[in-house]
Amino acid sequence: MIKVFEKIKDIRAFVESAKREGKSVGFVPTMGYLHEGHLSLVRCARSENDVVVVSIFVNPTQFGPSEDYKDYPRDMERDISLLENEKVHAVFAPDVKEMYPEETLTTIHVEKLTEHLCGAKRKGHFDGVCLVVSKLFNIVNPDRAYFGKKDYQQYRVIERMVRDLNFPISVVPCPIIREEDGLAASSRNIYLSEKERKDATCLYKSLRLADKLIKNGEYNTKRIIDAMKEFIMGFESVRKIDYIEIVDKYTLEPVSEIKGRELIALAVYVGKARLIDNMEVQI
Ligand code: AMP
Repeated sequence: MIKVFEKIKDIRAFVESAKREGKSVGFVPTMGYLHEGHLSLVRCARSENDVVVVSIFVNPTQFGPSEDYKDYPRDMERDISLLENEKVHAVFAPDVKEMYPEETLTTIHVEKLTEHLCGAKRKGHFDGVCLVVSKLFNIVNPDRAYFGKKDYQQYRVIERMVRDLNFPISVVPCPIIREEDGLAASSRNIYLSEKERKDATCLYKSLRLADKLIKNGEYNTKRIIDAMKEFIMGFESVRKIDYIEIVDKYTLEPVSEIKGRELIALAVYVGKARLIDNMEVQI
């Protein structure tokens, strides 16, 4: 039977008792409204640990004032039943007061890796992510924590934070899970109308286009980005391209030429949904 904890002291006691029995603990932090992307992380955690803890917390500190914190989809009952089917041992689902009982005076800011991509467009977003993830790491105290490459910059930022701050935790990256037509699974896909849902495939298709250009010998990143932009703007439901960037996949710094260690990442507004996707370049 899955256990659901809302209080920090209760999830701490649960993990402490598992650890006393010599069990390893895998942790999957989420904002809920679970889909196959989240469940793939859970399955990976299950295969590598004795005990799996999933957190469900829509973290206010990582949303900007004009972003979708209030509208973010939530369905705790469904989430818990999905996690029960995956044989997850415990869910940590605190409310905002439990996580932030008073004003937080501490900032965790990872430099450089947050300067481009979503970090440039969503000011303060990664500070909010780093704050909540460090709090969750200190609360849950896992051996391994699982992050999707769908949020590639987040994965790199957390990986670095863990290294810089000596968290005794292995950060495990997991591949992007997609719908049949290539759209990356996302809780925000629920915002899409039928027509927007069809047009939302333009993100993945533009990455495929870039891949094809590279395979045909186009290594100039500006020309690849221009081709992706032109392709995406051909879809009616696209309201705005937030960014398309080609960066070194370790430093996340933009590059002018493909060398085989890059990430192509983009964020596009389709209807009211801001969707992201990315692809690691193979040559
Ligand atoms: P979220 O609930 O959006 O904060 O996501 C929680 C975790 O699930 C993060 O590590 C995400 O990167 C991961 N995730 C979300 N969507 C996908 C996906 N389509 N494929 C793989 N991982 C994902």
